[in-house]
Amino acid sequence: MTGGVALSEVRGVRELLHTLVRDFDARVCDGDLAKRFVDEFSRVRRLAEAGITLALSQVDGTGAWAHGGEGARSTAEWFAKHAGLPLGEAIRATDTATKVAALPATEAALRSGRLSAQQTHQIADAAAEDPAAEAELVDLAAHASFGQLRDQARRRKAAAQGDADRAARQRQLRGARHWTDDDGMRNHGIKLTPDQAAKFEPVWDRFTNDEFTKARQEGRRESNEAYAADALVAMAQAILGDGHLRGGSPAHGLILVDATALRRGHTNAGETCEVAGIGPIDVAAAKELLGDAIVDILVKDGVDVRTVAHAGRSANRRQKAALLAEWECEIRGCGVQRGLEVDHIDPWADTHCTAIDSLGPKCRWHHHLKTAKGWRDGPRGDDGKRDLVPPGRGP
Ligand SMILES: [Zn+2]
Repeated sequence: MTGGVALSEVRGVRELLHTLVRDFDARVCDGDLAKRFVDEFSRVRRLAEAGITLALSQVDGTGAWAHGGEGARSTAEWFAKHAGLPLGEAIRATDTATKVAALPATEAALRSGRLSAQQTHQIADAAAEDPAAEAELVDLAAHASFGQLRDQARRRKAAAQGDADRAARQRQLRGARHWTDDDGMRNHGIKLTPDQAAKFEPVWDRFTNDEFTKARQEGRRESNEAYAADALVAMAQAILGDGHLRGGSPAHGLILVDATALRRGHTNAGETCEVAGIGPIDVAAAKELLGDAIVDILVKDGVDVRTVAHAGRSANRRQKAALLAEWECEIRGCGVQRGLEVDHIDPWADTHCTAIDSLGPKCRWHHHLKTAKGWRDGPRGDDGKRDLVPPGRGP
């Protein structure tokens, strides 16, 4: 299966490279020599990426990513964790690896160290739609810029997809993600199909124009992007009105703040003022939200919120708030902070009592593994986290 290559040989190359990089002193190189080092290391990187692509396809094909009790939910998630990559990048790499397995010319170019991971992705993505495009794109990659390759790959892909086909694929590609960046700003990445955009953007534009007009009246002059951001919030407020969506179901956000910080007006080191699952917010902004019907504020006043107990079937709102204050899935190494579900660690039927310590916040995936797939809770460790034990394993 390995074509005569042993894992120990690759490890030997890595150990050699490890020594070279450790001892490498770029500051003694002149600029031209430094450029040549960049070239050589780039070649090493391309070959390493090629090896990863070939092996990753097999990890995916054999289902081996699910072994080892790590609770990964896909090849990409396993890979992201092991390679220290963002999940999006790992998804792309896995997708490319499975496509390359059916593209011999791309695989040959990859093995010869001629393609970067990004070039391989562009070629595989288009050639999976139109195999006739493969040779042209591999050839193009050898002499054209990356931008030219990407544009041509997109053209070939679009031409290969019929209109109906394209619409179906676009529908699968739609999605929205949110994350907090290094500035503490909330980022949103939204992919809409063109017909969804046709319904959404005119409304957004209307609200953006309103924000523009308002800014002019107030003598403000900001970027159109800033008005568009304000417009999104104005849209949400316009829909919510008194805090209830049509149909009556409430929308909820949660802010956790120390009472001392709230009284003082700002946080000192070690104090909390955060939007749950999002990140720090200043106390003045939190106070403004106090009057907002859609935001719950949990004020910590020296009371250990974990002592709250309630003898009902489900965790009540205060308990949920206390659990949310722990911010993330309790499974060790998971780190998911959004959409947490409240899990009863000791089944209700046995205990007839719901205390905070018997509830564990889990992400949807880990909750699903436990409730539907026979995984069991391991003991909670000193770090407040626990492992999830696969079916058929000892505790
Ligand atoms: Zn989890």
